[in-house]
Amino acid sequence: MKRIAVLGVTGSIGRQALEIIGAHPGLELVAAASGSQPIDGLAEHVQVGGDLTELLERAEPDVVLNAVVGFAGLPATLWALEHGVDLALANKESLVAAGDLAVAALRRGGGRLLPVDSEHSAAFQCLDGRPSETVDSLVLTASGGPFRGRTREELADVTAEQALAHPTWSMGPKITIDSATLANKGLELIEAHFLFGLPYDRVEVVVHPTSVVHALVRFRDGASLAHLGYPDMRVPISYALAYPERPSTPVRGLDLAGGLTLAFEAPDLETFRLLALAREAGERGGTYPCAFNAANEVAVAAFLGGGLPFLGIAEVVEETLGAVDGTPARDLDDLVDADAEARRLAERRAALV
Ligand code: NAD
Ligand code: MG
Repeated sequence: MKRIAVLGVTGSIGRQALEIIGAHPGLELVAAASGSQPIDGLAEHVQVGGDLTELLERAEPDVVLNAVVGFAGLPATLWALEHGVDLALANKESLVAAGDLAVAALRRGGGRLLPVDSEHSAAFQCLDGRPSETVDSLVLTASGGPFRGRTREELADVTAEQALAHPTWSMGPKITIDSATLANKGLELIEAHFLFGLPYDRVEVVVHPTSVVHALVRFRDGASLAHLGYPDMRVPISYALAYPERPSTPVRGLDLAGGLTLAFEAPDLETFRLLALAREAGERGGTYPCAFNAANEVAVAAFLGGGLPFLGIAEVVEETLGAVDGTPARDLDDLVDADAEARRLAERRAALV
């Protein structure tokens, strides 16, 4: 029996995880946490808000599924890595913000970091433990979101409702906006850098509107391995929770004879500036990725609240990145300070846009 803690259990990923755990006799839900919604009776150990590491201390899980949204997921990520407890990571923001600290904690703790993000789960499976020197590059696919093909002028007054209508995935509001701006692919680029130890110039992003190919790895011998499937998060969630078992799921296999075609195109980095800004922040390193994430969280909340236009999200992030110093964090306190400083700057910018 694997004892699972699900953090963010009331969210999109959390609810799908409950379905996977409920259907698998070898997985047991021992702990569950939400940000504010009640979850009584769901598991032996439950917690609403507060310090999630206390819940993890009490519950002693074998696997932590971190499906909290945003920087709030960071203490749980570091707790699992430091304690050598397997971490099934959906909360990409924590790895982006604290990449260097997280990688160091993973080394010390000696547990496993199993990506839940579909592209990274796909890449993890294609890589299958092969050393990075056999890899020429990793390709992350992006659906392009609901605004693919639009010009900047056409995006000037899009509403939150329009941005929340994702063409291929049904997800929580924050990541859905990130998918519309391509900030999500920017976060995923940084996530891939830390997960797989690849420099940024060996992580490519390509737009693939139907989200059937989740990732592709180009190896040095000229072979490329890709991971395909209909877009359904139950596949990567199940893979990470039951690793390395690969149990069956209710997700149907690909219908090839029905006429499956695969189309790819380059992302429009001029219109969707956040992808380029994320790459720049990743390459600069230090706490620039933390500042990118913090400013983006602030700007997305402002957009969803009606206080910032869609194109203002990238403006706030760009101006925040121009104002922070990006000094590397020596420890969690430094990182929390860098996050707070970037949030303060971003809030000021957002109020002016
Ligand atoms: P969501 O908004 O649907 O759910 C978020 C969950 O986090 C909720 O249960 C909420 O109560 C909880 N939460 C928020 N703040 C909290 C706090 N301070 N303490 C404890 N719990 C808190 O979000 P989601 O779409 O499920 O996404 C969760 C994470 O997974 C995000 O990091 C997202 O980027 C990542 N992710 C999601 C998908 C997807 O398909 N939804 C795909 C890939 C990655
Ligand atoms: Mg993803």
